Amino acid sequence: MKTYEYVSHHPEDTLALAMKLARYVQPKDVITLEGDLGAGKTTFTKGLAKGLGIDRNVNSPTFTIIKHYEGRLPLYHMDVYRLDESEEDLGFDEYFFGDGVTVVEWAHLIEPYLPSERLHITIHHADGENRIIRFSPIGERYKQLCKEIFSDESVSH
Ligand code: ADP
Ligand code: MG
Repeated sequence: MKTYEYVSHHPEDTLALAMKLARYVQPKDVITLEGDLGAGKTTFTKGLAKGLGIDRNVNSPTFTIIKHYEGRLPLYHMDVYRLDESEEDLGFDEYFFGDGVTVVEWAHLIEPYLPSERLHITIHHADGENRIIRFSPIGERYKQLCKEIFSDESVSH
């Protein structure tokens, strides 16, 4: 599988990359985010929200598993950290196949419910504020999306 790597040196780089992605997303797009606590999954989601024209502050949903924001497209932000793998389906499909874009932090915890095609993103802590952000597109739609994003000169590596 072809993957795309981006090195972020500051939170602002991560926000900018996500804002860039926001320009290309369409209804029913699903983005899954993996990475340790503090890697930058929520920071990435904030950038996506900003890029979709959402003014509300996006933070990790502590008690709510799913938050819904209205922007150019609706954004469904899920953080499933508190679900364990035995948890039942919470009606995820309503979001995945809804009118908006879904972002899932800790997506592997709901692996059986994830759509087979999605943009999988992993964020690794490197030293200091450096983060390695890897896009792994699963399915034709997301391969195309990555090609568009990473062929653009405004994404630096
Ligand atoms: P997660 O949702 O993965 O637990 P958060 O986005 O909530 O992580 O937190 C990431 C923390 O790391 C924030 O405090 C952010 O300011 C900081 N940070 C430092 N460098 C970066 C970077 N390059 N990209 C993203 N976040 C960074
Ligand atoms: Mg988070």
